[in-house]
Amino acid sequence: MHDLDHLPRPADKRIAIRVKPAAARALRGGHPWLFAGAIRHQSREGQPGDLAVIFDAKKRFLAVGLYDPASPIRVRVLQHGQPAPINQDWFAKHLHAAADHRAPLHDQPTTGYRLVYGANDYLPGLVIDRYAATLVLKLYTAAWLPHLRAIVEELPGVLPVERLVLRTSRGAARAFAEYGLADGAILSGPPLTGPVEFVEHGLRFAADVVQGHKTGFFFDQRDNRARVRQLAAGRRVLDVFAYSGGFSVYAAAGGAATVTSMDSSAPALASAEANLALNRRCATGQTRANLRAAHHITLAEDAFDCLDRLHAAGTTFDLVIVDPPAFAKRAAEVKRARTAYARLTRLALGVLAADGVLVMASCSSRVTPDAFVETVTDAARAAGRPLTDITRSGHPLDHPVRFPEGEYLQCLFATVR
Ligand code: SAH
Repeated sequence: MHDLDHLPRPADKRIAIRVKPAAARALRGGHPWLFAGAIRHQSREGQPGDLAVIFDAKKRFLAVGLYDPASPIRVRVLQHGQPAPINQDWFAKHLHAAADHRAPLHDQPTTGYRLVYGANDYLPGLVIDRYAATLVLKLYTAAWLPHLRAIVEELPGVLPVERLVLRTSRGAARAFAEYGLADGAILSGPPLTGPVEFVEHGLRFAADVVQGHKTGFFFDQRDNRARVRQLAAGRRVLDVFAYSGGFSVYAAAGGAATVTSMDSSAPALASAEANLALNRRCATGQTRANLRAAHHITLAEDAFDCLDRLHAAGTTFDLVIVDPPAFAKRAAEVKRARTAYARLTRLALGVLAADGVLVMASCSSRVTPDAFVETVTDAARAAGRPLTDITRSGHPLDHPVRFPEGEYLQCLFATVR
């Protein structure tokens, strides 16, 4: 067990903050962020994680949240509308609520999912991903320093936990490191000897929760992967931006003739290969037969160059999945992101056979769902391959959306003549 005794204690005294009318309106509407520029008066300077009580111009209570002097999001709201003591019981209540909300996933069966999705689960700046008995806590603000202990102590009462791993965002890493909490630190439980195994829709995966992207795996695509499994039978499938092979494994399990995983990262493709091997070993019945029959090819190349090259060589696929990294996290990047999605659409269609299926996903929070669909459909039309039978999907159960900035994921499935 990592010693958390030396972490700063929550301050006894709360900070009182009075805000401008526009911010008061947003907070009344349930928005969880208070920006520094919206503060009219503040009773005192504060430390990361001090509790801040926010009032309107008439001194009416609006919300209470976590103060962060280093962030433009100066307060992240824990509770709106009425005051409450923010203590271990409060955290326990919201951790239990988050766990209850995910309970239906256990029947799939699935043991890998997002247990806490930040402010959307009333715990702003905190993400907890569950990998079977290993929980990975990803902290996006030093404001969690004084409250981390309460969370760590409560979690074993919420669900069976063997190990807790800490991940920190780039912005928060230094504050945690000052207390000996490095990115990837084991907070409790046995040391890690390799990737952590979990189950998704009955399929098995192993994720590197210390070095992997985000917390090690992209749980948000679970439902879209299940759909790909349904569509894969007999098809030649191309998984662009494959990472550790989430879509590739489902395609093989669904009876794909061939599965090609493309990613610029060779280690990512090695884990895709390992995840396929794991399922070939452990699956049963028809799924096992499918997995063993599917021929798997990996291409460790830049996706844009590789798609160009395959097109020039006349190679085609019947199902192409394009799930790139986020292209626009800031408003200024939206135009560039839309250009990249248009280009990827053209390139994907360049290798898609007639009557093939195109799956395009975006995790760029700043590109709205309508703008994304418009970008993809326009690019397809301009390429002379208009999309038909378009269906769209958004957020899965374990990524609930409670405020506009919480929504980032969208996925489009279409047939192309
Ligand atoms: N589809 C995956 C998640 C993709 S994450 C899943 O379901 O789990 C994005 C991936 O894109 C990362 O693995 C990263 O290595 C890869 N990547 C980023 N830029 C790339 C590029 N230009 N060409 C190929 N792969 C790239």
